[in-house]
Amino acid sequence: MAIIGIDLGTTNSLCAAWQNGKSVLIPNALGKILTPSVVSIDDNGTVITGEIAKQRLVSHPGKTASVFKQWMGTSKTFSLDEKEFTPEDLSSFILRSLKNDAEAFLKETITEAIISVPAYFNDRQRTATRTAGMLAGLKVDRILNEPSAAALAYRQHGIHDGTSVVFDFGGGTLDVSVLDSFGNIVDILAVAGDNHLGGSDIDKAIVSAFFEEHTELGKLWEDEKLPKEQFNMLIKTAENCKMALTDNPQVFMIFSHNGKEYKMMLNNEKLTDICSPTLLKFNNAVKRALQNAEKTLPRIDNFILVGGSCRMPIVKEYLQTITQKPPLFEVDPDLAVVSGLGVAAGIKERDENIRDMVLMDICPFSLGVSVRKGELNNRFSPIIPRNSALPTSRVEHYSTIADFQTEIYFRIYQGESLEASQNLLLGECEIPVPPLPAGEAAVKVRFTYDINGILDIEFHVWQSGEKFQKLIISDNQLTEEELQKRLDALSKLKLNPRELEENKLLIARGQRLYEEYTGPFQQRIENSLLEFEHALLHGHSLQIAKLYEKTSIYFDHLDLLLNNLLFTGEIDYQDEYEE
Ligand code: ADP
Ligand code: MG
Repeated sequence: MAIIGIDLGTTNSLCAAWQNGKSVLIPNALGKILTPSVVSIDDNGTVITGEIAKQRLVSHPGKTASVFKQWMGTSKTFSLDEKEFTPEDLSSFILRSLKNDAEAFLKETITEAIISVPAYFNDRQRTATRTAGMLAGLKVDRILNEPSAAALAYRQHGIHDGTSVVFDFGGGTLDVSVLDSFGNIVDILAVAGDNHLGGSDIDKAIVSAFFEEHTELGKLWEDEKLPKEQFNMLIKTAENCKMALTDNPQVFMIFSHNGKEYKMMLNNEKLTDICSPTLLKFNNAVKRALQNAEKTLPRIDNFILVGGSCRMPIVKEYLQTITQKPPLFEVDPDLAVVSGLGVAAGIKERDENIRDMVLMDICPFSLGVSVRKGELNNRFSPIIPRNSALPTSRVEHYSTIADFQTEIYFRIYQGESLEASQNLLLGECEIPVPPLPAGEAAVKVRFTYDINGILDIEFHVWQSGEKFQKLIISDNQLTEEELQKRLDALSKLKLNPRELEENKLLIARGQRLYEEYTGPFQQRIENSLLEFEHALLHGHSLQIAKLYEKTSIYFDHLDLLLNNLLFTGEIDYQDEYEE
């Protein structure tokens, strides 16, 4: 049975499998490789995912959610049509739709998956990812770090032996990893990054700059007088402008509100100013990754760019300036991670073309316990230092601090802060010790961390010889029973069927365009939609197909007009569309 690899992205998700000796990308019901990580609920309570849901961000913001990956493993919930969903629930809908796409494509039932996560995802976020998989009916065979997956893809693509830096700058996260590739071995040496830094921060920064230029609009937003729909539209316009600057020297960001038009010119120079706080953070991430890998820039052979946001010319330029190296951008930055996951699926299936390939990964964060040092309580004592090669097993000894103490209380943390409580608490436990004078009772603590990020702890009490075993599963892990309950609740929600996706997408596009246009355009869009929806209900297939084509051409025209607006700064409202 095939194992699929899933890149569950903040912005887009993708799926691949290993077939006939290579990594094959799996298209969704619309024939596209990229499925937007957006979830919406329609009037019948059906769950809509992907491109159709993305169109609904503008037309139905109260029923649509995006950028939820960043919140995995936290208590934040999203309200869609007055129903509450956790980020794990929302991710499970995306995973379920990708699983359905894979089953349709591979013509077999899929039950196992490898899912990638940003290297910097903590233990809770990893557990949440695995839970999302289970909620989608997938056994998550392995959680793989995104840059490690990208490295596998580049290895298949033929980068030379040597040391590489993979710079993965996506929609919501930044990961920088350093790795060595020699022969069949890809050895990850270190990672550094930021879980809350991505393309969406750039969109927000552009909107802030827009508010600064148009203080009156900014004030409306501050006073909560700008509706969410309008703000989302501003963000979307900002993103369009940002992307248009990849191939164009100058664009105009235009926004109409209460009959007034606001406009801002944007070019790459201005964008550099707007983004400078983001760009500056790159320095630290690269420096830290290199330091941890004990490498210096001159010893780096390949500087590989991954992630949609690396398409920005200002990002490429900035990186070239700080690294003094021409970056490699050979594998499509959207596809690198998922292509590598296809390779990982092949390795896991022990396919003969690839079974000798080895990926050596690391633990991206330190794991340890809180202790008292001298007068100071709550100090962090790392047992497994970050960037240790996996699997790893390390030992430390701890002794009592009070006379005749009968137990030692261990708090297990993940993180880098000297102060334990600043780190992420993974679990706690009490170990009984014989009552002896302070410092005489001692416990040997062994931490074992496997390639799937499961921490196994063994406590060995010296004096009594007693041993205690503890598997640390973070406290956000659902119990069997809770999982079943959530599964039952979610399975009551129907997922939009794969058939007829194109028709639904056309309707969602029309609804979005209706929101984006004003005046005579709106009337015409509404009429087109009515006509098409009427045909769907009452027409025969030929009629529907004809009308589909006519309406698509009209909507394409409208999107083109919106796009032209970016470059000319003016819309020709007189432009009468002739069929
Ligand atoms: P993730 O893996 O987090 O889903 P992706 O790697 O798919 O993210 O990248 C998505 C991000 O890339 C979005 O913020 C999007 O705006 C940005 N992006 C995509 N294409 C371009 C482009 N041509 N120019 C600038 N940014 C882009
Ligand atoms: Mg990504």
